[in-house]
Amino acid sequence: MNEADVFSPEKLTDEHRLMAQTTDEFVDKEVLPSLSRLEAKDWELARTLVRRAGELGLLGVNVPEAYGGLDLDKVSSLIVAERIARAASFATTYGGQANLCILPIVLFGTPAQKERYLPRLVSGELVGAYALSEAGSGSDALAARTRATRGPDGQWRLTGEKMWITNGGFADVIIVFAKVDGEQFTAFIVEKAFPGVSAGKEEHKMGLHGSSTTPILLQDAVVPADNVLGEIGKGHKVALNTLNFGRFKLGGMGVGGCRTAIGDAARYAAQRRQFGQPIAAFGAIKHKLGEMTARTYAVESLVYRTAGLIDAALAGSHDGAAVAQAFEEYAVEASIAKVAGTETLDYVLDENVQIHGGNGFVSDYSAERYYRDARVNRIFEGTNEINRLLISGMLIRRAVKGDLPLIAAARTLQDELLSPAAPAPSSSGGALSEEMRVVQAFKKVALMVLGTAMQTYGPKLHDEQEILGYAADILIDTYAGESAVARARGAVAARRHAELHEAAARVFVNDAAQRVEHAARNALSAMAEGDTLRTLLAALRRVLKPVPLNTVVLRRQLADATVARARYILD
Ligand SMILES: Cc1cc2nc3c(=O)[nH]c(=O)nc-3n(C[C@H](O)[C@H](O)[C@H](O)COP(=O)(O)OP(=O)(O)OC[C@H]3O[C@@H](n4cnc5c(N)ncnc54)[C@H](O)[C@@H]3O)c2cc1C
Repeated sequence: MNEADVFSPEKLTDEHRLMAQTTDEFVDKEVLPSLSRLEAKDWELARTLVRRAGELGLLGVNVPEAYGGLDLDKVSSLIVAERIARAASFATTYGGQANLCILPIVLFGTPAQKERYLPRLVSGELVGAYALSEAGSGSDALAARTRATRGPDGQWRLTGEKMWITNGGFADVIIVFAKVDGEQFTAFIVEKAFPGVSAGKEEHKMGLHGSSTTPILLQDAVVPADNVLGEIGKGHKVALNTLNFGRFKLGGMGVGGCRTAIGDAARYAAQRRQFGQPIAAFGAIKHKLGEMTARTYAVESLVYRTAGLIDAALAGSHDGAAVAQAFEEYAVEASIAKVAGTETLDYVLDENVQIHGGNGFVSDYSAERYYRDARVNRIFEGTNEINRLLISGMLIRRAVKGDLPLIAAARTLQDELLSPAAPAPSSSGGALSEEMRVVQAFKKVALMVLGTAMQTYGPKLHDEQEILGYAADILIDTYAGESAVARARGAVAARRHAELHEAAARVFVNDAAQRVEHAARNALSAMAEGDTLRTLLAALRRVLKPVPLNTVVLRRQLADATVARARYILD
């Protein structure tokens, strides 16, 4: 990692800030005031808002100008996702349109398909959806039973039932996945107006009441010959590449939700008095605000870093194949963003309810709605269990293929750790140098766990989900910790709110070290025993070598700054 190249919110350009402002104004002035009508399922209003989003350019951030888009970088689309997340129901409608319908056509559409669908989807004239899941195949999406057969006229006939489809109640264009002759998994562009296509009843959901979720019924639906998206039998490529970017953006939406809730919690804690003082004065509340802030800071750092990495890989290219390739290259980071973003969001929203006390549980305050609306994020776009398996699994596959020197690195590390003369690692000096040493140690721990797992289980490792889960947790904390420290070091060098950046990164890394040690101990204890285990655990302690830190004072510092500013510290 070259620290100077790590992208962070402090590096946003004027153009990025303008995009943030446009989205904020749209959400504040048009979406949030419409919330109760959206929750009453006023889909005409939802359509109007989609169209407004189109007029403002928000639907075509990553679409080539030739098709009505703005052709901007991925940082810009992250900014829009993050800002629109303040209105979670509409953000889901937006995601169904921009991430799940427009994006696959940009990546895999033929010029004729792009010409036919993109301008009207980007303007918001048409509403889009994405129908992959079925009642019997959610995580196991490739086991879909929807069938496609080609008729004598060359047209396709699709039969099956898709479940839980976002925007299902009012979508016009749906990316549908079906198996040609029950075998070849394939994507199709299906219009609701085609004969045999209809939506089922709205689901009654825990949250996101202002977003439509219905089955999509395909009863011998007639689809024109040239509406296959991508290649026949290559639907998994369309599905996975779409989800890669969707997951990354969902991580960004999580950050947006966290920042909003932290602001609400800080303002409430400042004005709510108990025992003669604002609750913000109590250590227990400061702990919550400080921890909410530190965790949000780390996820924010990792999603911006990832957007910067994807933009750098693309180097200005907007070619569909190149973009799909870049998403594939950063699929591990996208899954990390999804898991870390959605779990941090749930943590923050839970504490936001707690800070609001009884008011957190009643609908007069938004805390209860945020809490309900967020729960599904850990379920859709690949459950967090599936994403954890992907994080470890993709790295292992790359290592086995030889694309990643993981096996050789694990062996070198093993020799180094098992040698009695191995020196305990020390930090290099400079701001946050101890934290940088610790996150480099996390990488060694990840190697130790993955290397031991590959040696222990060989090709059967994919059956050991608990080990893969522990490895994923270590990798998530490693990437989040490294991104936070690199960003904080940049802020220290630039002397901008340095003490707040530093406090957030230090608290996060300190606690991440405890989580990493816990995960590694559990994983190693499942794979080794006796002297071998004792040696591995001794090596683990030597690598991590935690230095005690007074996180109470740092969390208080973060909490006090949050309350004084009445918003997330770096907004
Ligand atoms: C509000 C909402 C909107 C949605 N929008 C869309 C949409 O627009 N388009 C669309 O196609 N789908 C959509 N979905 C569906 C969503 O993507 C699926 O619900 C999700 O993929 C999980 O599938 P499932 O519900 O069948 O759960 P299952 O796959 O049955 O999973 C149940 C549990 O088992 C675990 N599990 C499953 N397989 C494994 C495994 N191999 N190893 C370990 N654990 C496993 C899961 O992690 C989970 O905890 C939406 C769902 C909701 C609730």
